[in-house]
Amino acid sequence: MPYLTWMADVLRDAGLRVVEVDGWQSRGYRGGMSDVRGVLLHHTVGAPTGNFPSLGFLLSGAPPEKPPPLANLGLARDGTWYTIAAGLANHAGRGRLPGFPVDRGNPHLIGVEAESTGADHGDWTQAQVESYPHGVAALLRHLGLPADRAFAHKEWAPTRKKDPAGWPGGINGFRDTVRAHLEDDMPLSDQDIFRIWDFKAHELNNPATVHSAAVWLVGANMAAWQSAGAQKEIAGLRAAVEKLAEAVGAAQGVNPDDLKKAISDTADRI
Ligand SMILES: [Zn+2]
Repeated sequence: MPYLTWMADVLRDAGLRVVEVDGWQSRGYRGGMSDVRGVLLHHTVGAPTGNFPSLGFLLSGAPPEKPPPLANLGLARDGTWYTIAAGLANHAGRGRLPGFPVDRGNPHLIGVEAESTGADHGDWTQAQVESYPHGVAALLRHLGLPADRAFAHKEWAPTRKKDPAGWPGGINGFRDTVRAHLEDDMPLSDQDIFRIWDFKAHELNNPATVHSAAVWLVGANMAAWQSAGAQKEIAGLRAAVEKLAEAVGAAQGVNPDDLKKAISDTADRI
């Protein structure tokens, strides 16, 4: 029964602002999560003013019908993410979607409650319109799940729910934005680099390919070089480059120093 204690770092690494609510790492309704298969998107139906007026309610709930916590994560009007519970949260309720046990979404879905009055026309702030799909993309990327694993609560429970109401472009628009983040915008994490590296390494069978693979990797991570977290990403990239240089060099008879120099020359030109 895992606790999703990686959430704060993953959101921060994506360049998002995060507030860690006291005790979130060990908070959960009767324990941790099961295998996570997606993210469920909510709106709070909270007060019309304030940055995140629903936080207290999400933490205290309304027992016995709604025992807390009522969300794993919260999203404030200014786009800040709040980590609320790394363990199980009560947010999905009765409902169903393909690939999930009926009426049992909570163990398999990260629940995000975004501050909104729930007005049909949508009262989302520009900061939320940017931050909500960005953060969901970061979570899905970490989990190795695609954009279509972001679900609206109204898809889980269409007869009783309408959240997230009034999202620009609807839930398919939300997923399109998530997809764009997953495909293009996000800086590569160390884990991503190693995964790609591993994949490319299997295709290598001659020194020319080794070199082009190295150039390819450097190019793929250009966005990361230019991002806010650039120093950390560069450190990860260099470690990965050296690891591959040594492994491929030994296996293919390529001098690892030549490979490192070729990569370094390429990097210096970018
Ligand atoms: Zn909901």
